[in-house]
Amino acid sequence: MLGAWLLWWRGNPAPTAAAPWVFAVCDVGQGDALFLATGAGEAVAVDTGPDPAKEDACATRLGITKVPLVILTHFHADHIDGLPGLLRGRSVGAIETTTVDDPPAGAAQVQRIAAAAGIPVGRVAPDEQRTLGPLSWRVLWPQAEHPLAQPMRMRGADGGGGGMAEDGPGENSGPNNSSIVMALTVRTDHGPLRILLTGDIETPVQQILLADRAPYLPADVLKVPHHGSANQDPAFLEAVHPSVSVISVGAGNPYGHPSPRTVYLAGDDGARVLRTDLDGMVLIGAPDGPNAPIPVRADKGEGVVPTAEPTPSGLGRTQGGSHSHSRHRRTHGGEGGSRDEGLGVSHAFLTIRASDVHFGHVRPLARLMSYL
Ligand SMILES: [Zn+2]
Repeated sequence: MLGAWLLWWRGNPAPTAAAPWVFAVCDVGQGDALFLATGAGEAVAVDTGPDPAKEDACATRLGITKVPLVILTHFHADHIDGLPGLLRGRSVGAIETTTVDDPPAGAAQVQRIAAAAGIPVGRVAPDEQRTLGPLSWRVLWPQAEHPLAQPMRMRGADGGGGGMAEDGPGENSGPNNSSIVMALTVRTDHGPLRILLTGDIETPVQQILLADRAPYLPADVLKVPHHGSANQDPAFLEAVHPSVSVISVGAGNPYGHPSPRTVYLAGDDGARVLRTDLDGMVLIGAPDGPNAPIPVRADKGEGVVPTAEPTPSGLGRTQGGSHSHSRHRRTHGGEGGSRDEGLGVSHAFLTIRASDVHFGHVRPLARLMSYL
């Protein structure tokens, strides 16, 4: 397996020490399966992906034996079907879901599995704030009073969102727009790391959040909504203004995810964009200091920093200046000294300088240096 020290270099060429992961985006195909570390062998799960075996394998690889809380952003199969795999041999404290039981069969499935395992199921409350270990978060969506946060059958003919809302996992989907959105802060030794989790929300919800929850949107790390679908409000991604964007998406999915334009927008102003279909599992570490780079590592790649808007015929992956595997990359030697026995990936972290992001200045084009 390839592994290289890569540093987005600006002034200080010394690589940071590898940090333990705080946020993991599993490679489970088309779907979302996320973990937020809360202690040794312990993590909050946010969605479980489409496949129990893949969910179980990812949790096992991350060394997770205890899950105090599972948050299911909405009831589509690509977010909930992996639940039995997460429960396999692990202690799970509670499940928390969106307020909208849509599609009803998905909600019933979660209730059935939870009941069989004796796990209590609750719902998030609008604007709920919680703290669990190093994590604290606020629920930005759903907002109970809003028509978009009602089940499809209670919305009116246009689905309440002005479009042709559907039940399925494609675009303009009612359940997508019932997704839990969480503004998380991870307490680290060197200050807070902000992560925005967005489920599969589409443009209408993004615009509501922009209008009435804007102060909570800026984040260091963004889980890009809806597997990078084309249905994004550029102003939403701009408001989040992440250093790192992660798109959880399956190769060859039938929905055309991610959209090349969304890949570009997710890299707005120099953010690094990682995709689980191309980069594999993505791990985010804790920065080494208040303005230190955000450590990122992925199984198979290091993402891209998009530098040019895609043309209609262009495909997002070829744009950008930094995804060449042949440039600045060296494989590790045979000693295997940097392999992580638990993860099977190298300790190499791509580090991204948070200080380049938050003050609105133009960031340097990615400059990559390699180390062994
Ligand atoms: Zn989805």
